[in-house]
Amino acid sequence: MRSFRNSQRIALEYNANEKASALTGASPHVVSNFKLSLRSRIALKLVHPDLVSVVTRAIEITTVDFIVTQGARTVAEQRHFVEIGASRTMNSRHLPANNESGLAEAIDVMPIVNGVLKDNLCPVVALAFYSAARELEVPLQWGGDWPYRWKDTNHFELKRGSRPSHSRKLRVS
Ligand SMILES: [Zn+2]
Repeated sequence: MRSFRNSQRIALEYNANEKASALTGASPHVVSNFKLSLRSRIALKLVHPDLVSVVTRAIEITTVDFIVTQGARTVAEQRHFVEIGASRTMNSRHLPANNESGLAEAIDVMPIVNGVLKDNLCPVVALAFYSAARELEVPLQWGGDWPYRWKDTNHFELKRGSRPSHSRKLRVS
């Protein structure tokens, strides 16, 4: 029986077959059975509506369930994250005050399969996020695609320098 808390060990026990089937099953038009948990919806408080719309669409099309672990952070929380090495900057877009919108423009997610946290499946969840962002025409950046050595695969943010489109072009077909 795997320990729910031991996500580090679980990440090392990554099962390639599981990822392969998740990838091949991916289709942006198939609606998943996953729903945002209450915890996820609470975490989306004070998050920019464009990013909320991407999350809301991503949970419908993802092949791997996920929870939103954090949206807005306080300065004190961010300072703590920098101190423990979980973040590299106080200029984080998790801090509403850092953004022109006055809202958090970044979120962190954690994939979850049968109640087990699956950090290693972040790239699969990212497929759903990018697909949702494309549909909604929201410029999105995944931390796993950051152009420097340190990646943050749990992290998604509205692209810096882009003005969120506010478009809501959900495909109906
Ligand atoms: Zn983050």
